[in-house]
Amino acid sequence: MRQLRKTRYQKVEAGHSKDCKVLFTYNLYKESIKISLIYAVFGVIWILLSDEILEYIIRDIRFYKQFQTYKGWFYILITTIMLYLLILRRVKLLKEENHKTILAYEAVEHLAYYDKLTGLPNRTKFEDEVNKQILSSTEINKFMIAYIDIDNFKNINDTMGHQVGDQFIVYLGECLKTEIAEPDFVARLGGDEFAILFYSISEDELLKKMEEITNHANKSWSIDERQFYISMSIGVVIYPNDGDSSTVLLKKADIAMYGAKREGKNRALFYKDNIRDINEKNIKIINDLQYGVDEEQMLLNYQPQYNLVTGKIIAVEVLIRWLHPQEGYISPGVFIPLAEESGLIYKLERWIFTMALVQKKKWEEQGFGFLDMSINLSGKTLTSDINFGELEAIIDLAKVDFNHIVVEITETANISDVDIVIKNVSRLKKRGIRIALDDFGTGYSSLNYLKKFPINIIKLDRSFVGLINEDGIDTLLIKNILALAHDLNFDVVAEGIETEDQLEFLKTYRCEIGQGYLFSKPLPEAKISALLLE
Ligand code: C2E
Ligand code: CA
Ligand code: CA
Repeated sequence: MRQLRKTRYQKVEAGHSKDCKVLFTYNLYKESIKISLIYAVFGVIWILLSDEILEYIIRDIRFYKQFQTYKGWFYILITTIMLYLLILRRVKLLKEENHKTILAYEAVEHLAYYDKLTGLPNRTKFEDEVNKQILSSTEINKFMIAYIDIDNFKNINDTMGHQVGDQFIVYLGECLKTEIAEPDFVARLGGDEFAILFYSISEDELLKKMEEITNHANKSWSIDERQFYISMSIGVVIYPNDGDSSTVLLKKADIAMYGAKREGKNRALFYKDNIRDINEKNIKIINDLQYGVDEEQMLLNYQPQYNLVTGKIIAVEVLIRWLHPQEGYISPGVFIPLAEESGLIYKLERWIFTMALVQKKKWEEQGFGFLDMSINLSGKTLTSDINFGELEAIIDLAKVDFNHIVVEITETANISDVDIVIKNVSRLKKRGIRIALDDFGTGYSSLNYLKKFPINIIKLDRSFVGLINEDGIDTLLIKNILALAHDLNFDVVAEGIETEDQLEFLKTYRCEIGQGYLFSKPLPEAKISALLLE
């Protein structure tokens, strides 16, 4: 690093002296000619006039000769003083101008190399540093780059405005800076993306550091009295293993970061060559998904929801499963986003609703009409009038008791969709269907949402429930959310309950309904029927 600093310093110096040279050559000619001209004009005037004046004053030839000598000395004295003053003034001016140039140079450098919003180094500066580090290392110096992206940042901007978004970026930049010790440094690459250059750190240390950073970010933030919850996805590359230029390293760090997002966000992932194949794999998944429905590779599982006080099953959440003929089981966390991306979600959801409602009818006929059925509905379908209309037709065909149907929606990212979401949600509610807001607590301030939308139930996200064992502000936030939900007359369903402690906490704060591995994983229909018979 010391070496790196030195080279950097030298380059800046060299930059300055080059500019100074340009400035001096230009002015020196002009100024030298100016001074010489003044000197010449003074000399000519002196020659023309001094003898005349001397002759006029001194008539005696003896005195005249003596004064001629004095006049010579006097001329030298005057011109010396004159030259001294002229040169001094020019030098001072040049110095001032040179100083201004240096300042301007620094200002330009700052503009070019530092981010305006956060004051952090920008992408250019970051790439420069990486390239310098690569060039200056005599023996192979390992260093690592962590590429950070805030998950769902668009939501913060869309729902709370760019000003809040900007404020948050500044805030996060400060936090990252304090978490990083020199000589490691953090830069803002643009938007909600930051990068950190770690000079000498082991992979284990770096993972620990990343965990610290994500944990730090992973809390409820509040800006302008608005609370929201964020997480970050981080991609990590190692020099020289992953590339030998800043461009290649950053590109791979970006790929790794997207890999982290695909694995569920809120994590750090080291670059591996196979991540690159993921894109191709995704295309294959989308291709295969088209046949998956028709070829009966899909099935539905049901995760029971319990009344936390009585311990009785009161509802099931429908969760899709895909058994791919070659790949085996593929998680809905992977293929649902791809189905949404490709538009296949519409067909898939028509199938899910059809099958789920058939099952609902069966359970009704078996005397389990009390059982609520909660079905996930993608924001894509909800905001597409044509596809939503087709889904409504399927729902109406089912002839089930709509008072025991819940549709789970997630907060829509796109503010322009709000009106259409409200319209379609209301159409479901008119039938008696209740609406649950899924994954509550992730992404951004959901409280605004609660006020705007006709929601009956909020589902406390499992990442929130997971925080319960830790003390501090987050548990306080959960308590507040539960209190608020009660005030607004919402039911609260806690997701992902895995421990007795979490269960106790939720019961204490009057959360009545919950689901999670502590009770049961999602199960096939037969097992649920057996549970119901018990
Ligand atoms: P989700 O709607 O939040 O569903 C809950 C997820 O949490 C399920 O994952 C469930 O298996 C898992 N889970 C339940 N209890 C626990 C627990 O105690 N601990 C942990 N760690 N996890 C628990 P799954 O089935 O993999 O589904 C993932 C996501 O895929 C769902 O999240 C949902 O967004 C989507 N999805 C699944 N099925 C459907 C569907 O039929 N339609 C739509 N649109 N999306 C679906
Ligand atoms: Ca759900
Ligand atoms: Ca959820």
